[in-house]
Amino acid sequence: MDERQLTIYFTSDLHGYIYPTDYRSADEKDIGLFKCASQFRKDGNTLVVDGGDLLQGAPLGAYCHDTIGSAAKFAEMMNCCGYDYVTLGNHDFNFGMPYLESYLDALRGNCICENVRREDGSSRFPARVQVLENGLRVGLVGIVTDHVNVWERPEHLAGISVTDPVEAARNALRTLRDRVDLTVCVYHGGFERDLASGRVLSETSENAAYRICQELDFDILLTGHQHMSVPGQMVRGTFVVQPSDKGQEFLCITAERRDARWHFSSRTLPAGGACRGRWLAEFAEMEQGAQNWLDQTAGHLAAPMVPDTPLRMAAYGSPLADLFNSVQLEATGAQISVTSLANDPAGLPRTVRRRDILNAYPYANTLVVKRVTGAVLRQAMERSAEYFARNADGSLCVSDAFLKPKVEHYNYDYYAGVRYAFDCSRPVGSRVAELSINGKNVADTDVFTVCLSSYRASGTGGYECYVDCPVLKEIGTEMSDLLLDFFREHGEPLPLVRGDYRVF
Ligand SMILES: [Zn+2]
Repeated sequence: MDERQLTIYFTSDLHGYIYPTDYRSADEKDIGLFKCASQFRKDGNTLVVDGGDLLQGAPLGAYCHDTIGSAAKFAEMMNCCGYDYVTLGNHDFNFGMPYLESYLDALRGNCICENVRREDGSSRFPARVQVLENGLRVGLVGIVTDHVNVWERPEHLAGISVTDPVEAARNALRTLRDRVDLTVCVYHGGFERDLASGRVLSETSENAAYRICQELDFDILLTGHQHMSVPGQMVRGTFVVQPSDKGQEFLCITAERRDARWHFSSRTLPAGGACRGRWLAEFAEMEQGAQNWLDQTAGHLAAPMVPDTPLRMAAYGSPLADLFNSVQLEATGAQISVTSLANDPAGLPRTVRRRDILNAYPYANTLVVKRVTGAVLRQAMERSAEYFARNADGSLCVSDAFLKPKVEHYNYDYYAGVRYAFDCSRPVGSRVAELSINGKNVADTDVFTVCLSSYRASGTGGYECYVDCPVLKEIGTEMSDLLLDFFREHGEPLPLVRGDYRVF
């Protein structure tokens, strides 16, 4: 009787988080590859697999690119942790092909990424068959979301093309099917449908994992990209998983052959415990380099940006919000910019270190430019104006709508490029008392380009009105990197666009 089994350890979207730190403070955090991989128990019937987006994200990634100029160290880290197969994520192309090659050249495991094609149309990282110690033949196909083509600069894709991942996987599966006992697809992409309800979450082809389950019959589909923890489950006959990002967790998946069929199970395990000391020591120099680099000066301010209370910032404006909006306007060329502040935002000192920027903008948001009508802009502003309420004595306070059940100051938006006023004596929904651009009142039918964080563009926080606005541009670079660029490119004084609004 055939009772063979396979174990897979799976990580994805590590985004440069290797050491147990979030780079905001010196405290050890339960995060990063080494905290995960120290828990791997590998034997001849085990595969260690990564789903991509390794090279970009954490300061270690930026430091490695900007200062060392080769990603071989990242490969050595993956080698230590026993990786057998990796696929590529969209962000792995961010530094261009030569840098990506420096990673792949030093990697002991195999890169599989079927839909990355050479100029002659052949796959650059074709599917593989791995025979385990117990004789099981496992077919592995990697694919990456073809939205790489939307986000990436063309010069970073020189010599390659990224084709339709579903078709590439379909063809690879056809050639593997009869030669293997089990098929695994490693997809740097996520789910376009809610797995519980089947409801469509996104109409674009960025994520196609549900379709892959519907149309192809892989045994196992390892997904990523959405940074969304998906515990192991069957979807249309395929066993699927996804870990969250930054090595906060990994999956241990078991496939067992019993009664002439496959049985799948998996556990989602948090990063934790001690890291292998040998690994921490081996790359300590690079890690320390990144830490020192973070403490380097990124720029100067004429005066420190000191946060005030959330209410006073919302009512009277905030230099921090002005800075974020100025960066967004410059990076996108949009007419209007929208930003918000964390519940407890960190300020910026006069001398700004790289690390200060990470703390001031603690989200991994990217930017989206949408085409927004005057009517939608007004609707969004009404949502922001809902932030205010009045005490019995007539003074302004924060509305319960932004305090209960969760404190959500970050859902109050600051607008730049537009002049506006909120009259809080009026009922919620009709408070926008003034709205003009360049001295001209905004009509419902006017159309503007508006820059939003990726978070807000999805309609989150009561801003559903943005959901159906057409996307004109997506900037794949994270805001913290855009802030660094802004400081690098401008001396003192920074060219800041001030919020032009009144609340009364
Ligand atoms: Zn991704």
